[in-house]
Amino acid sequence: MTKPLIVITGASSGIGAATARLLSAKGHPLLLLARRIDRMEALELPNTLCRAVDVTRREAMMAAIAEAESRFGPVDAIVNNAGVMLLGEMARQSPDEWERMLDVNVKGLLNGIHAVLEGMVARKHGTIINISSIAGRKTFPSHVAYCGTKFAVHAISENLREEVSGQNVRVITIAPGAVETELLGHTTDQAIKDGYESWKQDMGGVLKAQDIASAIDYAYAQPQNVCIREIVLAATRQP
Ligand code: NDP
Repeated sequence: MTKPLIVITGASSGIGAATARLLSAKGHPLLLLARRIDRMEALELPNTLCRAVDVTRREAMMAAIAEAESRFGPVDAIVNNAGVMLLGEMARQSPDEWERMLDVNVKGLLNGIHAVLEGMVARKHGTIINISSIAGRKTFPSHVAYCGTKFAVHAISENLREEVSGQNVRVITIAPGAVETELLGHTTDQAIKDGYESWKQDMGGVLKAQDIASAIDYAYAQPQNVCIREIVLAATRQP
């Protein structure tokens, strides 16, 4: 049987790329969105459309989804995964950094929801998977704006779930602890980066992107009448 279309944002590296590989192996056609199209095309996944879309650009995201739906049928799930983490102390951090986190992690996620929700509600079927973080449940040093964006993802997800559950649309929040990806690489404060790296080493390593992909796949693969509302997962030795 043909599997339905899944959209993954931030699919050019880390968790998004690992999720794309896994869901493609399960037979789903995919729409992959991120700015680095070469990295998504290099995954060489079958039945997959890759589009260079910045998630803060709502119209571009909607156009790419419309294109994918005309080729593969309606979107059954979106994984709102695109995100940036620019750690910093508020007294010293450039406002450009916290603006970017709010734009990508919050507005970009809302753009993804907006682009697919009307269709899901009309069809009374669909799944929205939002990637938050343990930093959306508790706070950490130098994480003020990042935690703010991820606490917002939890609030948005839970309130959205309440709003659309009656229309048979599932909303799932995945909240990972530290994962080995490119995420930390964008932080500009070298002392904070070094501290984070030694924290990871002290606990004997962190999760792999594939661990999060497996959690996403597990939640999505449940029957439509089962909604795993939230998965929080981290390396066993993460405090
Ligand atoms: P990566 O940096 O490896 O991946 C981030 C992805 O987001 C990239 O594909 C990047 O693509 C994309 N992205 C960034 N900005 C934009 C944008 N404006 N428009 C479209 N895509 C964008 O990090 P992870 O895989 O770790 O991050 C994925 C998600 O997981 C994030 O939401 C992150 O907050 C969350 N997370 C990660 C944890 C970790 O420890 N790694 C822990 C908890 C949560 P491109 O640059 O090509 O646009």
